[in-house]
Amino acid sequence: MASICPHCKGTVNLSNVLREKDVKDSAIETLYACPHCKAVLGFSFMS
Ligand SMILES: [Zn+2]
Repeated sequence: MASICPHCKGTVNLSNVLREKDVKDSAIETLYACPHCKAVLGFSFMS
């Protein structure tokens, strides 16, 4: 997976993307953020 950050046009891929895990109730929410400008690009949930 490689994509372009819509905010700074930097390249974001699985090896440089920032991941931040947050536990809410019993679900783990993972935020994905741009390593260049720190903009949040998306999130996913795992139970
Ligand atoms: Zn960016």
